[in-house]
Amino acid sequence: MKITVKDIDLKDKTILLRCDYNVPLKDGVILDNSKILSSLDTIKYLLENNCKIIILSHLGKVKNEEDKKKYSLIMVKDELSKLLNKEIVFSPFTSGIKLNEVVNKCENGDIILVENTRFEDIPNNLESSNDSQLALSWSELTDVFVNDAFASSHRKHASTYGITKYLESVIGLSMEKELLMLEKITNNIERPYTVIMGGAKCDEKIPLIKNIINECDYLLLGGGIANTFLKALGLEVGMSLVSEKEINEIKQILINNKNKILLPIDVIVGNETNDNYINHKNINEVTSSEVIFDVGLNTIAMYNEIIEKSKTIFVNGTMGKYEEFKYSNGTKALLANLKDSNAKVYFGGGDSVSAVNSLGYSDAFEYLFTGGGATLEYLIDKNLPCLSVIKDK
Ligand code: ADP
Ligand code: MG
Repeated sequence: MKITVKDIDLKDKTILLRCDYNVPLKDGVILDNSKILSSLDTIKYLLENNCKIIILSHLGKVKNEEDKKKYSLIMVKDELSKLLNKEIVFSPFTSGIKLNEVVNKCENGDIILVENTRFEDIPNNLESSNDSQLALSWSELTDVFVNDAFASSHRKHASTYGITKYLESVIGLSMEKELLMLEKITNNIERPYTVIMGGAKCDEKIPLIKNIINECDYLLLGGGIANTFLKALGLEVGMSLVSEKEINEIKQILINNKNKILLPIDVIVGNETNDNYINHKNINEVTSSEVIFDVGLNTIAMYNEIIEKSKTIFVNGTMGKYEEFKYSNGTKALLANLKDSNAKVYFGGGDSVSAVNSLGYSDAFEYLFTGGGATLEYLIDKNLPCLSVIKDK
C-alpha cells in the first residue's frame, strides 16, 4: 500500500489536497454528491491536525469560455460547506499571484477550494498536458501533496501527477479505501466474471476493452460503446453517439471474442430534431435519422441470463441516457436485475454510481468506486500512473 496521510507528520502544515469533484451534473445542479462525501474523511483528518487545506479538482472538459460557465466548482463549494458545516474560501484564480494572495490570507484550519484546474487548459492545455511550470507553481503554495482523487489517478495531469515531482506526496483516506477494496477483489476474482460497460466516454473506454476482454468471461455492452460495436458490425445506428476512430479495431475484437461479447438486440430511439419522437426498434430496424438513446427490455432480459450465472460483476457506464426519464428504463431494469442477483456486484464511475443512488440501491451492492476509467485500468494493470509516483509504505 502507498503511504497515506496517517504515515507522516502533518501537524500545522499547509496541504495541497487533490480531490475528484468531477460530479455528475444536470442543468447546473449536482445530481449525486458521492464524490464529495467520499472526500470528507481526509478533510476532517487534516482539520484535526490543524492544517491549512488547499483543495484542487477538475470538473468536466474545459475547451472554451462557455465550458467555464458550465463547469465552475462554485456549486461544489456550497455542497462541501453544507456537508462540513463550515465556511469554505473559494478562489476563482487557479494559479499565479492572485491565488497566492488568497492562500496567504488564510490560516491553519481554513479550507480553500480552488476553481476547476482545467480552466488552466485554456488556451494551452496546461493542466491536461501535465505542464511542469503549472505543477511547480502549485507546489510552491504548500508543504505536502495529498492525492485523494482515485477517479483521476489513471491520467497524468499537472495537479495529479506532475506535482508529485516537487513535493512530499501521500495518498488520502478515500484513495486508500478504494485501493484496499480493489486489492481484495483482484486477489480472488470468482468466476464467471462479467464486465458490463456503457456510457458516453467511448474514446477513453473502448481502448480499455482490448485488455479487459482478456480478463473477463463475458462483456455486456450498452450506451455509446455498444453503438460503436453495432456500427462495426455494419448495422445502421443513425445519428447515435459512436467513436469512429475505433471501428476497425473493434471489428477484430468482435471476431476474436464472438462468445464473450453481447450487444443490444433492441433499442429505444429518438430523433435529435423532434423531441416528441420516441420508438422501440429491433436492432436491425434503426433508420439513418434516428438516435439510439437506450437499450430495450429484450436486451436486458438476454443480459440477465449472463448475470444470473455470474459470480463477480463489474459495471461502468449506463445503458442509456439515464438522466432523461424516457431513456432511463434500460439502466433501471439492469440495475434491478443486478440487485436481485447472487453475484458480487461492483460499480465504478460518477454516472454509474449516481444511477445506483438515485434508485436507492446503494446498499445492495458490494462496493461503489468513485472512478470508472481508473477502476477499469486498475483491473487491467495495478500500476496507475498517479500512484506509481507515490512511495510505498
Ligand atoms: P461514468 O460516469 O459512470 O464513468 P459515463 O460518463 O461514461 O459513465 O457514461 C454516462 C453518460 O453516458 C451519461 O451522461 C449518459 O447520458 C450517457 N449515455 C449513455 N448512453 C448514451 C447514448 N446511447 N447516447 C448518448 N449518451 C449516452
Ligand atoms: Mg460520467
